[in-house]
Amino acid sequence: MTSLSYTPPAAGDRPAPFAIPTGLLIGDAWVDSATAARIDIINPSTGETLTAVADGGVAEGIAAVDAASAAAAGWAATPPRKRADILLACFYAMMAEQEWLAQLISLENGKALTDARGEVAYAAEFFRWYAEEAVRINGEMGIAPGGANRILVQYQPIGIALLITPWNFPAAMATRKIAPALAAGCTCILKPAEETPLTALAVAEIMRRAGVPAGVINVLNASDPGPMCSAILNDPRVRKLSFTGSTEVGRILLREAANTVVSASMELGGNAPFLVFDDADLDAAIEGAMVAKMRNAGEACTAANRFYVQREIHDRFVEKLVARMGAMTVGAGCDAATQCGAMINQASIDKIERLVADAVAKGADVRLGGKTLEREGFFYPPSVIANVQPGSDILEDEVFGPVAAIIPFDDPEDAIRLANATEYGLAAYVYSEDLKKALQIAERIECGMVAVNRGLVSDAAAPFGGMKQSGLGREGSHHGLIEYCEIKYIAVSW
Ligand code: ADP
Repeated sequence: MTSLSYTPPAAGDRPAPFAIPTGLLIGDAWVDSATAARIDIINPSTGETLTAVADGGVAEGIAAVDAASAAAAGWAATPPRKRADILLACFYAMMAEQEWLAQLISLENGKALTDARGEVAYAAEFFRWYAEEAVRINGEMGIAPGGANRILVQYQPIGIALLITPWNFPAAMATRKIAPALAAGCTCILKPAEETPLTALAVAEIMRRAGVPAGVINVLNASDPGPMCSAILNDPRVRKLSFTGSTEVGRILLREAANTVVSASMELGGNAPFLVFDDADLDAAIEGAMVAKMRNAGEACTAANRFYVQREIHDRFVEKLVARMGAMTVGAGCDAATQCGAMINQASIDKIERLVADAVAKGADVRLGGKTLEREGFFYPPSVIANVQPGSDILEDEVFGPVAAIIPFDDPEDAIRLANATEYGLAAYVYSEDLKKALQIAERIECGMVAVNRGLVSDAAAPFGGMKQSGLGREGSHHGLIEYCEIKYIAVSW
């Protein structure tokens, strides 16, 4: 089953080996919903409808729990090595399909093909990482302090997991949850975002073909996810919720999870500060800023949202960033030349316009872009707004687009205070050639992840997650596996 030799296909030379499913995956079959309702999927680069997928409801939600429940005991009892082999097969199968999968992501999400290729590789990596973790779920044994008994600690699969994912990384947000769930021995129900379900449906079919047994992964789409997810979470067989999305929906789901005391892992919004000190390598900081701001056209919860730049280098930083961002090619996701793709929808454009207008009304200067492009699809250009004033909404709210808001600072203490002046605490970026200072600052920033002299934090091998209202729990690394485990303590006398 596991192919150990792997040669990537030349770009574009391999079509999808199957028609992309558009149904609901429940147990061993792709099915339609009872109502036969469908959700249109829009290409954000053109505004055209690509296709439509089945629209599930409460009945399909419970059917998926039935399927996950029927498969649960068998999957939990599958030897870890076999689970690992299946996950590794998923990794190779996904990488073999990298090119058309990337095109599919670009089509339904609008992101540039280079971003989409990177996403497929990152997404597949979760299968490989958790294949390696599946055989290393080790417990502990100790002796009670009183000497009377042994303390045996074992990790067991937590149970059926509901996995809810957003549209910005349709492949990676799915595999970041599915892979650890399966490695731990859990069966799952994936509920992708209604804007970008095709990638998740394709990944699920790749997994089936790679040997994932029926019912271990189920996939549901819904135009009105609330009632369906609520029914699933209120089913006592479901023991885990892992959600990536907005803080607002995260709060609703945490309340739902409370009914049955379901374990919840939450990856919510961010408002990442990007701090550049006067002793930074300016060119390296610009490179990092381009990644932290422009990867995925800014549609990432880790995206740099606020650039605090020390006064001595502020003007040069702005000038260089304007030059680099201004040179980017904006275009349809699938065009080979595109470096900055489309936004997901009109609501996203509206939000960016509102945040930029508010900043400008409060005194900011538009140094680049700052105006929606007049063309088909949903396009906002790379934009730089400098001199952003305190109290501007863009400093409070994720822009989730290609807009860099820049604020000068004089005193490093002010920069740290401003970086922490938010309810969010996901990611932060620090640029300084003085590593001692940078690490001291990294420790003081209230967020789950800090990149020092780097523009990227995401890695399957690292614990991804936020503090404060950015979330609960971690994904990726060994920590991400433990989220799908229950700790069982057995007191033994012998
Ligand atoms: P975004 O703002 O990025 O679109 P959302 O938080 O609205 O993020 O959506 C993230 C995911 O949560 C999507 O899969 C969406 O369908 C799902 N979702 C939205 N509302 C609910 C809800 N009430 N119950 C369950 N899932 C929901």
